[in-house]
Amino acid sequence: MSDEGFLAASRSGILLLDGAMGTQLMAAGASERDRMEWNVSHPDVVERLLREYVDAGSDVIETNTFAATRQQLARCGHGDRVAEIAEAATRVARRAADGKAFVAACVGPTGELPEPYGDLKPEAAVGIFAEQIEAHAAAGVDLVLLETFIALEELEPAVSAAKRAAPDVPLAATMSFDRGAHTSFGVDGETAASRLVELGCNIVGANCAYGDELVSVMAAMRAAVDVPLLCQPNAGLPQLVDGETVFAAQPGEFAELAKRLKDVGVTLFGGCCGTTPAHIRALAQAVRTPSGR
Ligand SMILES: [Zn+2]
Repeated sequence: MSDEGFLAASRSGILLLDGAMGTQLMAAGASERDRMEWNVSHPDVVERLLREYVDAGSDVIETNTFAATRQQLARCGHGDRVAEIAEAATRVARRAADGKAFVAACVGPTGELPEPYGDLKPEAAVGIFAEQIEAHAAAGVDLVLLETFIALEELEPAVSAAKRAAPDVPLAATMSFDRGAHTSFGVDGETAASRLVELGCNIVGANCAYGDELVSVMAAMRAAVDVPLLCQPNAGLPQLVDGETVFAAQPGEFAELAKRLKDVGVTLFGGCCGTTPAHIRALAQAVRTPSGR
């Protein structure tokens, strides 16, 4: 990590984010229900897992807060602990970064359907996201990363919330193109990127997808906007093994996809579902070295 701020670093070259956290935490013994709460009850474990990503070459690590909005925490019985969990997660990530990596506040969807598909009203959504983002900003983050959104009707309020709760913090937003060229709600890469930049996002991109169509989505984003592009693919396409969804792309295969993403103009890379420190290591080798182009 250089002394320059995150935005300058994001504009000047390749940056690596981290890989999956949920699966790593569950491998360390956390239940799906308590993954967010572990920032408070098991900060040492969260810190160790994040440090593994720093050691693997991540320039940016994400707080363990993908499901830390009030709505998501309420499903696990922790709905009144948003600020406590977000602040604890930020402090843990800062310790793991240890001056060697930037810290991104990870903010995921509420799990509720936005209007007109469901009942979540835009103004309510702004309040929900602002509550989490305010706590991260108070504890000190280098950027806010809104990720895995599939509906602009939910992502736009999240962007508004970030602008309100953390006006001086750089903002990145990614959508999950889980239907190939589109998200489940029919958003394509060009539409997503244009709209998000128009709303003031400093970095835009895609996560939680994989394959040829993801490369096309990023190429469409590159043609539509001129801000840095971020892509965090899954470790392959989902496969059903013994009734469980697994992502089985090996680090080498994952890194080959990253090279193609680099060719279409992506400069910020990381991993989503199923990725591990080994995937980040392969990524660093693939996109940072001359042989990785
Ligand atoms: Zn994912």
